Amino acid sequence: MPTAQSEPDQQSTTTEDPSATELGAIEQEESDDTDSDSDSDSGESESDLSVDPPALFFGCDTPEVDTNHSFDGVVRAVDCETDAQTPNPALERSRQASDLAKCEVPDKSSERQRYGNTAMIVGFPRKSHNIDQIGNHKVSVVPVQFEDLSGNQKDLEVHREQVEKFADYYDKVSFGKLNFEIDMHDSWLTLPGVQADYSVTADQYQDSYGDRIVSMREKWMRDGVALADPFMDFSGTRIIIFVLPENQKALELTLQAFYGGDLQYEGQSDEGPIKNLFAIGMPQTDSRMYWAYYAHETGHTLSLPDLYAFNFGAQSEDGNAVGPMSTFDMMSNNWGPTLTMGAWIRWLAGWFDDNQVFCQDFENFESGSFELQPIDNDSNGLKTVMIRTSETEAVIIESRREQQWDEGPTSRKRDGVLVTKIDTTVNHGKGALALQVPEGRGLIYSYADSGGVGSIDATLFLGNSVEVDGLIIEVNETGATDVVSITKK
Ligand SMILES: [Zn+2]
Repeated sequence: MPTAQSEPDQQSTTTEDPSATELGAIEQEESDDTDSDSDSDSGESESDLSVDPPALFFGCDTPEVDTNHSFDGVVRAVDCETDAQTPNPALERSRQASDLAKCEVPDKSSERQRYGNTAMIVGFPRKSHNIDQIGNHKVSVVPVQFEDLSGNQKDLEVHREQVEKFADYYDKVSFGKLNFEIDMHDSWLTLPGVQADYSVTADQYQDSYGDRIVSMREKWMRDGVALADPFMDFSGTRIIIFVLPENQKALELTLQAFYGGDLQYEGQSDEGPIKNLFAIGMPQTDSRMYWAYYAHETGHTLSLPDLYAFNFGAQSEDGNAVGPMSTFDMMSNNWGPTLTMGAWIRWLAGWFDDNQVFCQDFENFESGSFELQPIDNDSNGLKTVMIRTSETEAVIIESRREQQWDEGPTSRKRDGVLVTKIDTTVNHGKGALALQVPEGRGLIYSYADSGGVGSIDATLFLGNSVEVDGLIIEVNETGATDVVSITKK
């Protein structure tokens, strides 16, 4: 987690221009993640220190929290790692038949309907306007340096590791159904110009359709493809990634472009057109996180939506941008402790096998219990239970473990059950998917080296329950798997 990363302000990403959010697939996603609270010189955070800590761990057997608890990004020690309670026995294991079609909740956002449902789709039918969500796709990686800045061998090795991790990520979260083949050139190529000729500042980035960023999207694509064309075979390339020397100053944040959205110029290689471009600048960002940026942006090429809400930061008690999905999904926050993709995103993408999903509608659902396999486990078996609760809503239940893609430390554990709810009428950036949080919960914190971003304490531990739309979801057993009872009121 970058500790001093500059901050594309979340609030500045408005939905006032639907064409920008919808057609453009543009966003300041690096914003959902930033850490405005970590600047200890702000008077605001100091005043927070004088306020009594909120009851973050209500219901815990040992409810004391560290009295040094504050909102300045330091480690929060808590006395209890979970909110586990004495569980009730599980209901009888469900034997009801699943009907997957019922959970294909149609996308009904007025905004997306208006703009043709071509990107950022939160419901059904499944669509991919750009890259198919299943199959093998090629990503070309071009190391570029400038006339006034050269890259070195170490930077190349860092970048290679990161793009390979990105490919591995999609192999795992898609259960092997989506594969990116990485073709990375093995030396630095020099763009025709100095860094200033290719620069995009944070302010220019925020101005999504400003002259500078529009022209730079095209220039990077045009010059970068022309530069690499003699050395690389772009046959079948779906995404081109430009990687930069670590100490570059050209890109203050990132540059991503999606043809048909915010990119009006399609890359023209000898082997055919290239539609998507990513480049991460952010010189203050931990380079070990580059892969997560690629993964999030690639989600958009698969038509997957952002899961953060543009204005949610303003609602949190301490100014942290916690969001309706907080840090619990790659498409909500690509710098947080949890970088996996949750059940709804995987369902949208078509990555589950039929036997990994139980679906029913509320009317037909019969109360019972289910044994859930953690979503990131290699194990087969049931990964999610989804109950359709209206024409446009469903409740989604899944099991999470702190393991790869979901392993960042927080001040409380996150091994347990996660309950979310989708509402497909909600427009982009307004929080269509939202965590359903047990009563009395507050925020938990990433450790100091992750920048101090607050997360909603949303995990259901043993004995915990939550009620959503007439369904009570309760955790009865936990171990390698979780057993949950779902009771219809
Ligand atoms: Zn995004």
